[in-house]
Amino acid sequence: MKSRKALVAGNWKMNADIVSNEHLFTSLRSGLERTSMAHVEIVVCPPFPYLGQAIAWLSDTGVAVGAQNVSASPNGALTGEVSAAMIADLGCAWVIVGHSERRTLCGESDADVAAKVAAALGQGLNVIACVGESLAEREQGHTEAVLTRQVDAFAAAIAGPGGERLVVAYEPVWAIGTGRSASSEMAQDTHRFIRARLARHGAEAADKARILYGGSVKPSNASSLFSMPDIDGGLIGGASLVADDFLNICQAAAAA
Ligand code: PEP
Repeated sequence: MKSRKALVAGNWKMNADIVSNEHLFTSLRSGLERTSMAHVEIVVCPPFPYLGQAIAWLSDTGVAVGAQNVSASPNGALTGEVSAAMIADLGCAWVIVGHSERRTLCGESDADVAAKVAAALGQGLNVIACVGESLAEREQGHTEAVLTRQVDAFAAAIAGPGGERLVVAYEPVWAIGTGRSASSEMAQDTHRFIRARLARHGAEAADKARILYGGSVKPSNASSLFSMPDIDGGLIGGASLVADDFLNICQAAAAA
């Protein structure tokens, strides 16, 4: 058993409606009643309009709820934005920051991601900060340079107030939603590299920090990935919308 408690977070992205959510929550509840998940922390991250529904349906299950994005600003004339204080006020414990889709589709920079990490930690939220290289960057041998830039932007936060609430998710962009996962060994090498970057800000904090793998995690590859020494769980996209798949992945993490 690893010293860091496993964590599995489901990123629903922009997929949900009230009725299908109810089915998913009901299946998750009954699955959790059947199986002990004592050794894994579980989070679901639906779109903003459904956070309240998720909190209401999952309140007594031990499953925490997170948002998929947060504003770096505390308030103001920012139409469409949602602050960290609002997310915390609603009862969410978690937020995902810097997902590659937000970096590429919404133009979020490393500085934006760092500001969001700071804002969310400042409001007492747990943060999953995502990093990862594109296929072209990997093929050109730039993976470490890209990760260095992305991780270094926020890494100092692990040694600051609330730093123990900062989780990193390594999500190679070429593996997200493609069915093409990194091999366990390749992911482990990259996780070790990320932990070493964090350690520049404090060896003990880096050792305690959880680093999740994301990118086409399925029940079939979860155990192998989670058995790696520096892989502390997963950020799960597509498979988090299928209750049995998500529960099987959580079980794999609990057993790792
Ligand atoms: C994600 O979007 O964070 C993700 C990992 O997606 P998928 O599991 O579908 O590849």
